Amino acid sequence: MHAKKVIRRRADLENFTIQLLEIYKFLIPSAEEEMKRRKFFSQLDGVVNKKWPGAKLFLYGSCANAFGVRNSDIDVCLNVEDKQMSKAELVMRMAEILEADNMQNVQALTHARVPIVKFTDSVTGISCDICVNNMLAVVNTKLLRDYAKIDVRLRQLAFIVKHWAKCRQVNETYRGTLSSYAYVLMCIHFLQQRDPPILPCLQEMQPTYRVKVGKIECAYYDQVESISHFGSQNKDSLGELVTSFFEYWAFQHNYNHVVISVRTGGTFSKDEKDWTRRIGNERHLICIEDPFEISHDLGRVVDKHSIRVLRDEFYRAANIMRHDCNPAVTLFEPY
Ligand code: ATP
Ligand code: MG
Repeated sequence: MHAKKVIRRRADLENFTIQLLEIYKFLIPSAEEEMKRRKFFSQLDGVVNKKWPGAKLFLYGSCANAFGVRNSDIDVCLNVEDKQMSKAELVMRMAEILEADNMQNVQALTHARVPIVKFTDSVTGISCDICVNNMLAVVNTKLLRDYAKIDVRLRQLAFIVKHWAKCRQVNETYRGTLSSYAYVLMCIHFLQQRDPPILPCLQEMQPTYRVKVGKIECAYYDQVESISHFGSQNKDSLGELVTSFFEYWAFQHNYNHVVISVRTGGTFSKDEKDWTRRIGNERHLICIEDPFEISHDLGRVVDKHSIRVLRDEFYRAANIMRHDCNPAVTLFEPY
């Protein structure tokens, strides 16, 4: 009787994995879309190089970190050494160039916490945000992309988690839930913790890539092609990983005391960071350390209300995995 039940469960899990892989494949941008984006970026780069010598553009975020689903926006970082101009002025200048180039809906958000220009390409309809001198985002984009090259299960898990978070409306930092970047870090951390691990800790290995951004030294092992076998001892399927991911965040994570850290490949106590109490608007109700800007908790946007929303969603997801007969559908039901 017991054996029969286990076999049925295993079959359910296999079926769940097949369905999740179908969703994953559906979310991957087509080769045509990728090409359109590359072309758009190189044209934009050409325009900016011509009109603004000394300015350089970098792609960052989901269009460059391997975690972008189809029809994602493009995030671009403008890098200018000019110490005379403020970020707001740089954003204004960029907006002028874009308007002169006939881009649509050009908006310079100069008063935002992070000033950006938003616009839409008139030819392709691609939406783009340009921020200024945020090279840490360019570097953490490379870190995420390098992790994604080690084991395909990271990209699969992160696509599923991001898709779930969007369907359930818990990927909205302006409403106190988590950014896509935070979810990807949660996935990397989770795969570093599997037994045997599926991902290594690149920042604990001998660095082969080093760059200084302001005062922050970013260094890690980036020759990831040489460790592409790393996770091969672990045979966990996507269905098992998605199930355990939600179990972890619903029932096992110690929200009161623990910080998760991709940088160290583990966790440590909130005491070590003094993230135990509320300072200003930062409450540290769920703690996710940024891999390079280590004083930065990506959970700081979460407040008293949204932590409840988030944890309820983790419970819901974990319970669906335990009891629902069609989890691949119920999990993503719109909120
Ligand atoms: P989406 O597909 O939802 O647009 P995304 O990968 O672009 O996903 P975002 O959360 O929009 O993710 O972040 C874009 C990039 O900005 C990240 O890849 C990261 O480099 C950087 N970033 C975002 N939030 C932070 C943050 N709080 N601290 C540091 N860098 C961040
Ligand atoms: Mg983005």
